[in-house]
Amino acid sequence: MKQALKSLSLLLFCLFAGTQVEASGGTNPDLTLDAVTKKQGEFFVATVSGTSTIPDLWFNGEHFSMFRQDNGSYRALVPVENLLKPGSYAVLAKAGEWKEKIPVQVASNNLPVQKIWLDEKTNRLKATEEEKAKVKRGLRTLSSIKLWSELLSYPCNGRKSSPFGVKRSYNGAPVSSYHKGLDIAVPQGTPVKSPARGKVVLTGYESNRFHVHGNTVIIDHGQGLTSIYMHLHSISVEEGNMVSKGDTIGTVGSTGISTGPHLHWGTYLYGTSVDPELFVRKVY
Ligand SMILES: [Zn+2]
Repeated sequence: MKQALKSLSLLLFCLFAGTQVEASGGTNPDLTLDAVTKKQGEFFVATVSGTSTIPDLWFNGEHFSMFRQDNGSYRALVPVENLLKPGSYAVLAKAGEWKEKIPVQVASNNLPVQKIWLDEKTNRLKATEEEKAKVKRGLRTLSSIKLWSELLSYPCNGRKSSPFGVKRSYNGAPVSSYHKGLDIAVPQGTPVKSPARGKVVLTGYESNRFHVHGNTVIIDHGQGLTSIYMHLHSISVEEGNMVSKGDTIGTVGSTGISTGPHLHWGTYLYGTSVDPELFVRKVY
């Protein structure tokens, strides 16, 4: 009898719970984007609501992990690579049996092409394999907890000497790279402050084979967002440290390949460089 009562109350509970779900508008998942057109170097904010299964998301053939938000929906900030060909693409999401596809457009950011002529000696100066691998791994850090919750602040205040995204052609060849950050020209020794809460995932030193980046710090802000600080004079944090917005992480310098004291500040989503000033202007 006791068992039967238990079963009955469980059945009633299930019925009641089922009714409630229906009353609140059904359980069909829904994919939304903040816009259907983005420029090179920007990102789509993709949200899937109405699912308890972690959705999968694709853009231009690449898979992006989605992260659960406080309101129960899942989100991914999907980067549009700065050299991605302008045109028609799609964002596709799947969860269980459900899938949804939204056609999107990528527009050119019309940034100028900088023609750089290097002599053979400078052209041969390349990052060491170790430096490249460590930086790549740091920038691709994916952790599920979102550590930032407000606007990012500039890591130091000064003249912007080179904007994000300027395309580069070396020695007359087609555009093959671009400026993956914002340069801020300030005197050597100026403190560099973390623009948001995060965890230090890399400290690299010129004296330890960081020949191109120079003294470097990478911070993981969670849910695919990382930031990098290059050419530092000194570093005042260690790998594994948690930093708050405004904490000093080092000082501006001219280490690595650099023509004078400046901070190179980059922000990355899933390892792809996006314009850091997007995060200064709007909270994501
Ligand atoms: Zn730079």
